[in-house]
Amino acid sequence: KKITIAIDGFSSTGKSTLAKQLAKHLGYVYVDTGAMYRAVTFFAMKNGYITADFFDKQTLINSLPSIKLHFEFNPELGFAEMYLNDVNIETEIRTLEVSNFVSLVAEVSEVRAKLVEQQQEMGKGKGIVMDGRDIGTVVFPKAELKVFMTASSETRAQRRFEELQQKGQTVSFDEVLKNVEQRDYIDTHRDDSPLRKADDAIEIDNSYLTREEQFNAVLEMVED
Ligand code: C5P
Repeated sequence: KKITIAIDGFSSTGKSTLAKQLAKHLGYVYVDTGAMYRAVTFFAMKNGYITADFFDKQTLINSLPSIKLHFEFNPELGFAEMYLNDVNIETEIRTLEVSNFVSLVAEVSEVRAKLVEQQQEMGKGKGIVMDGRDIGTVVFPKAELKVFMTASSETRAQRRFEELQQKGQTVSFDEVLKNVEQRDYIDTHRDDSPLRKADDAIEIDNSYLTREEQFNAVLEMVED
C-alpha cells in the first residue's frame, strides 16, 4: 500500500535529504514545500513587492492568480526542480536573500491557502513524501507516517553554511546562524504557527545522527 509521509521541522534539519532518500527508495513522489514558498518569495522580490524596507502584501495577494508553480523531475540531479510560470528557478530560490524574506511571505495567509491547496492536490492517490513545516498538522493531518525533525541551531547553521559555500556564495557563518534563528523565531511566533510537532509525529533529533542512521530508523517505521 502506498502511504503519505509527512516530514516537518525547523530549517536545515536535513528534512529534504531524508525525504529525497525515502522517495527514491520507495519509488514515491517527493515534494519540497519550502521550494514553493521560496518561489513565491522570488516572484515578490523580482516584481519589487518585497525589499529590505517594505513589503506590499496586498499587491502580492492580488497577483497570486498569476503565479503558476510546478516541479519537474531532473534525472541528472535525481530530484524535481522548481518552476515559476514555466521558468526553472531552482538556483534562484536557494540564495540567502530569498531565505531572509521567505518567512515574511510564508506568513501571508492567502499565500499559505494557495500553496496548501496545491500540495493536497499533488498528494492525491500517490505514494508521497512531503517535507515542510505544516505537512503533518495542516496539509495531510491524516498522513500515515509523520516525522518531526530537530537539531541545534548551530548544527543547522553549520550545514547551511557549508551548502552555501559549496554553491560558491560568499557568506559568513554568523550571518547564516542569524538567518536560521530569525526564521525559527518568525516561523514559531505567528498566531497560527504551523511549525509544531503533530501529536502523532515521531521526533528525531539528528544533531548526532548520520544520514544513514536516520534513514534506516525512518525506513523501519515505514515498513512497520
Ligand atoms: O524548507 P525551507 O527552509 O526551504 O523553507 C523555507 C521557508 O518557507 C521556511 O523558513 C518557512 O518560513 C516557509 N515554509 C512554510 N511552510 C512550509 C514550508 C516552508 O512556512 N510547509
